[in-house]
Amino acid sequence: MISPVLPSYSRAPLSFVEGDGAWLVDDQGRRFLDFASGIAVMALGHGHPALVGALKAQAEKLWHTSNLYTVPEQEELATKLVEHTFADTMFFCNSGTEAGELAVKMARKYWHESGQPERTTVICFDGAFHGRSIGMISAAGAEKLTKGFGPLTPGFIQLPFGDHDALREAAAKPEVGAIMLEPVQGESGIKPVPDQCLKGLRDLCDEHGHLMILDEIQCGMGRTGKLFAHEWAGITPDIMMIAKGIGGGFPIGALLATEDAAKGMTPGTHGSTYGGNPLGCAVASAVMDEITRDGFLEDVNRRAGLLRQKLEGLVAAHPDIFDSVRGSGFMLGIVCKATNLDVVNAGYAQEMLTVPGGDNVVRLLPALTVTEEEIAEGIDRLDRAATALETQSA
Ligand SMILES: *Cc1c(COP(=O)(O)O)cnc(C)c1O
Repeated sequence: MISPVLPSYSRAPLSFVEGDGAWLVDDQGRRFLDFASGIAVMALGHGHPALVGALKAQAEKLWHTSNLYTVPEQEELATKLVEHTFADTMFFCNSGTEAGELAVKMARKYWHESGQPERTTVICFDGAFHGRSIGMISAAGAEKLTKGFGPLTPGFIQLPFGDHDALREAAAKPEVGAIMLEPVQGESGIKPVPDQCLKGLRDLCDEHGHLMILDEIQCGMGRTGKLFAHEWAGITPDIMMIAKGIGGGFPIGALLATEDAAKGMTPGTHGSTYGGNPLGCAVASAVMDEITRDGFLEDVNRRAGLLRQKLEGLVAAHPDIFDSVRGSGFMLGIVCKATNLDVVNAGYAQEMLTVPGGDNVVRLLPALTVTEEEIAEGIDRLDRAATALETQSA
């Protein structure tokens, strides 16, 4: 059957119809263990009662009024985010990409208002992924995102990951006004920026007055074991994009900023029809309540440590299939020796969901609520997948 849906994804032949916690049921009644979480979206797993309750209650009350009016659910969510982050102010949107677009607008407007309108350029890094709009593919710059979609938006420089000399040189350019990066690159295969480097980048931004923009769309919301990944380095950004986990499955994104970084964003400078609608904000508020609950992240770190330890054992047991493990918390990557897509497909055969990433990595992004038993079960299934691959190639 030819699908009427645009074939811009090469999709696995799996269709899910129901979910519960870390489990998904497909249209043939098979139960898959979900270590993909809809690409780090289902932070609290499928069908979390607090989220379902929040969505149902809001659905009965009010869906949408627009940003012509105060939206109480927005105010409540923003208050919670302010309480737990560096941010003084924020804008709600519907996706990560939109948050990224506003990040760049905000940075440019900041310099416009600061009397240095020439500082329009944003430094980005190879392997970055910030979304699929013209602006965000221009920011990331990789050919696999941009080819055929030109002309691209000017105002972005891409630097090699970890090249300090290139960074110093670029940061000194008069047209540069901001540096944008993911503290842990997700799509390119779980590549953490070392804490020392994040600190160094913060210092470099301070030295030149650049705005530091962090993309925590994938690595934020508890994924690495802190509410936001940059907290491990003891730094704060000026601007931060979030999405994915904040909605726990309801589409919502946000751009968080300091009052100073946001100073150019006066009435009329930005908007969104749906952004910050009551439904999304009510669900995200419930997500925030769960993740910031006393002891929640400690427990995430404990279980993530267990997964990490078991993964190291798995990698050691299959040296022809796996190479190493990287990442932190429940944002882990297995660097493969076999082709990562073969490993992901072998996982499907064991009713186990993982996500391929760049650098021949298989990403493990389970719900933050995944249990010890489910972690052990996931390792068993990956072990069987690896054994099946070994048998095939023998
Ligand atoms: C997913 C992702 C985006 C894009 O978010 P969308 O909601 O798909 O627009 C941007 N940056 C990072 C790091 C992501 O993981």
